[in-house]
Amino acid sequence: AEVTNHDSALLSCSSEVLTKENIVEPMRDIRRALLEADVSLPVVRRFVQAVSDQAVGVGLIRGVKPDQQLVKIVSDELVKLMGGEVSELVFAKSGPTVILLAGLQGVGKTTVSAKLALYLKKQGKTCMLIAGDVYRPAAIDQLVILGKQVDVPVYTAGTEVKPAQIARQGLEEAKKKNVDVVIMDTAGRLQIDKAMMDELKEVKRVLNPTEVLLVVDAMTGQEAAALVTSFNMEIGITGAILTKLDGDSRGGAALSVKEVSGKPIKLVGRGERMEDLEPFYPDRMAGRILGMGDVLSFVEKAQEVMRQEDAEDLQKKIMSAKFDFNDFLKQTRAVARMGSMSRVIGMIPGMGKVTPAQIREAEKSLKIMEGMIEAMTPEEREKPELLAQSPDRRKRVAQDSGKTEQQVSQLVAQIFQMRVRMKNLMGVMESGSVPALNN
Ligand code: GDP
Ligand code: MG
Repeated sequence: AEVTNHDSALLSCSSEVLTKENIVEPMRDIRRALLEADVSLPVVRRFVQAVSDQAVGVGLIRGVKPDQQLVKIVSDELVKLMGGEVSELVFAKSGPTVILLAGLQGVGKTTVSAKLALYLKKQGKTCMLIAGDVYRPAAIDQLVILGKQVDVPVYTAGTEVKPAQIARQGLEEAKKKNVDVVIMDTAGRLQIDKAMMDELKEVKRVLNPTEVLLVVDAMTGQEAAALVTSFNMEIGITGAILTKLDGDSRGGAALSVKEVSGKPIKLVGRGERMEDLEPFYPDRMAGRILGMGDVLSFVEKAQEVMRQEDAEDLQKKIMSAKFDFNDFLKQTRAVARMGSMSRVIGMIPGMGKVTPAQIREAEKSLKIMEGMIEAMTPEEREKPELLAQSPDRRKRVAQDSGKTEQQVSQLVAQIFQMRVRMKNLMGVMESGSVPALNN
């Protein structure tokens, strides 16, 4: 029984591919996950289509089920869609770097202004904040208080001066002080309106900013695409900051940003404290959006265990029916590693119902087989037929490994059985039909 266990684990790997049929179900789950994460429907549609096309024909990593492999492919695509790597802030070559923050009311612009100042201060830059929300006196006070908290000067000119004028004066002040980075906080509205956009355009013209960052609340959901589009068309953004990621939202808004504007998310806010600002990591975000982090880490671990070259090498061997005891040993050890891995992370594909006792049993039988293979000569390992043809050789292996001749015979029979089954599996793959089983 143990042998069969190992056998089936072996057969379930390496020779399967993703097909139109076996991705239907998991693709449905992925589609649902994206919609639940508030990714907008058109984005989901385009995405699912593109990934499906790309996934068909992809070979499965040994030991990984189709749905799990698909999640990995989807995640990789999401990462790409969000810019792949961390996008750094851009700094001006000369003079102060100017960062203009824009966004709707309540998304966290004022908080981000001060957080960003602290973030840059930690990188050794000197900063100055400009209070540009003239519609609520409380907004200016808020920035002044936060500025004190992070120990960064705040330029204010009251509520009677127009924001563009404040921007001009603030920038002059910053140049005088030789400040490295100027961050301008602006007023938001509950919804996009012309007055806000006109004001931002005017401020932008005056500041000629290095970065125009749109601050987006992670809870924004489906409207994110329209929001980002408007801001980008009206004022032109260089990137975005996603706030309130400490909340429940799965953050599907993150997908829209790059998709509709071509501009990356650069930073994320994940809390109300001034320290809670971090670079945006597309891979972490993809995991969050899919909500399948455990599957992802599993597939990644499986990838580590089964290196691709190994798989290709094996595939060639199977094709030419050269699968020998060396490959068997390699496989045995890989499967054993997967077994112990399954205990660590509590899951292994296709072995959902395997109990710890069964795993121990399987590992024990793997040990026995290992012992016998180690007792073979290099030649015997490469040419199992030598053992099949010679009772004397089998007897020697049995004696050297402390096993019975019957056990050795079983093992030898098994490798030929495997060759047949693997060839059959390859046949299924190539012809797309199930071959007649002749064993
Ligand atoms: P503004 O209107 O865009 O300037 O938004 P504010 O900076 O005044 O922030 C609005 C509210 O959101 C405040 O209560 C902030 O404390 C809160 N806030 C901002 N960023 C975050 C964040 O990353 N996480 C959480 N939990 N709250 C945040
Ligand atoms: Mg504000």
